Amino acid sequence: MIAFAAALMASTPMAEKPAACGIELIVLGAGQDAGAPQIGNADDTGPRLLPSSLAIADHVTGERFLFDATPAITEQLALLDSLAPTRDGLGVDGVFITHAHIGHYLGLAYFGREAAGASNVPVFAMPRMAQFLRTNGPWSQLSELENIEIVELHHDGSIQLTKQIEVWQRKVPHRDEYSETVAFIVTVAGKKILYAPDFDGWPELQGLADAKDDRPLYLEMMEVLAQLEVVDYAFIDATFWDDNELPGRDMSEIPHPRVTESMDLLETIPADKRAQVFFIHYNHTNPIRDPNSPESKQVLERGFGIARRGMRLCLSETHAIDGAELQMEQDQR
Ligand SMILES: [Zn+2]
Ligand SMILES: [Zn+2]
Repeated sequence: MIAFAAALMASTPMAEKPAACGIELIVLGAGQDAGAPQIGNADDTGPRLLPSSLAIADHVTGERFLFDATPAITEQLALLDSLAPTRDGLGVDGVFITHAHIGHYLGLAYFGREAAGASNVPVFAMPRMAQFLRTNGPWSQLSELENIEIVELHHDGSIQLTKQIEVWQRKVPHRDEYSETVAFIVTVAGKKILYAPDFDGWPELQGLADAKDDRPLYLEMMEVLAQLEVVDYAFIDATFWDDNELPGRDMSEIPHPRVTESMDLLETIPADKRAQVFFIHYNHTNPIRDPNSPESKQVLERGFGIARRGMRLCLSETHAIDGAELQMEQDQR
């Protein structure tokens, strides 16, 4: 009977697919805003980096959501198309923007009439970010021509995207020239994913924690992350490896948590949870950019993970059982 089921599977297009997954997280980029090689670094022969972005793809409904819209969005959507094919040309059902730094929102421009000519793609943004988009070209034109539809988010608020997907947002300390900066906590079928690609550092979060009104931020970002009892997967800012990374520059002026510091802080959490912390948003100078570097090996040896473009996590397995796979299960009984 199993052989029959296998034959049935082979005769269906679904047999081409890897193990069934209902809702999947796909890493579309893991670099800092400028990627790598960075502009002006033609002699950089290290591994290529695209700016940080995550996709959540529902293989049953075909819905696809992006977290950050990077300048490399064309290539990143092509990658997404190859792993989670779309129902239509663009196939973007919503974009969540963390903040107005180039790696996180410039990709929205490709929804305009010079490129996709999209129709009312929901763009989820905090109030200052939303105002920035509405009042500055070319973003204002995207809104006026209804290529995008701006949906305002609020600190410590959440939005139920689909039956299975909910997104919460929390403000985090960062250089907020044009917008707030947020971390997102995405709940998919009961699993929680923290996406915090940019924040000033752990002491800065601690500082906010002491202000009573930001206690929820502290809970989500420190206690919860440190214990990982609520968050299942965490993607956190790993812009720099340590304070010696940019010779000749005062790195205190570029606040970000250092990878070495984050590992020290989080090393007491249980090994199975530690393995679900992924470093993301690494600068072109960060040695974890190279999977074979001693620093990358050190991260893995200490039990943490490093986000890499193309990485996939299945968040909900049962959501996607199709007819053929059900048949197979019955046959095996
Ligand atoms: Zn950034
Ligand atoms: Zn930033």
